Amino acid sequence: MRGSGSFLGILLGAGVAAVSAMAGHDAAGMDPDMALRELLDGNRRYVESRRAFPHQDSVLRRRLASGQHPIAIVLGCADSRVPPEIVFDQGLGDLFTVRVAGELPDTLTLGSIEYAVEHLGAHLIVVLGHEKCGAVDAALHATTASGHIAALLAAIRPVIQGAHEAGHDQLDSAVRANVRHVVDELKADAPLAAGIKSGQVKIVGGEYDLDSGRVELLP
Ligand SMILES: [Zn+2]
Repeated sequence: MRGSGSFLGILLGAGVAAVSAMAGHDAAGMDPDMALRELLDGNRRYVESRRAFPHQDSVLRRRLASGQHPIAIVLGCADSRVPPEIVFDQGLGDLFTVRVAGELPDTLTLGSIEYAVEHLGAHLIVVLGHEKCGAVDAALHATTASGHIAALLAAIRPVIQGAHEAGHDQLDSAVRANVRHVVDELKADAPLAAGIKSGQVKIVGGEYDLDSGRVELLP
């Protein structure tokens, strides 16, 4: 069923990838607004099934062996359906990803994020929650939890208590409240706050839609 339209799509996709490969990886300390545009452009390609699959060739792989300059840090849920490199159509060396169920930071993940800002030159931080998050759902509804899962749910529970956003059901309101809380927590982290104050660092929150694939930035 593949016609000339698909072939054209492949050609255009290769063009996008080539341009992006030239621009992306040498951009140490990329302006956070520009990085955000790159991610949202990539997400649009993903939603519209025209991914460019940038930065995945062996030449670049070897070049990256000598150093990395990711354009953004993504603190996202560990959910297997929300891999940042795929949903933002990025490649090797593009994203510094930190993932944990429910995307709540702790001292270790904060250390990773601060490292990526200070030593790798990433100035955009995206907190990425998603529709129907199992961790948030369990924090809302589970009455028992085994092992360390209990600690995970206990960390999320107070953050989402009483969350209710017009136009969103209970779980979705909780997911969005959780993302906003994490954004605020990161903004309060002293080294990151200093970066925000100087205008170098930007932190945004987003929610990924499992059905459409779209990432909505939260106001
Ligand atoms: Zn999740």
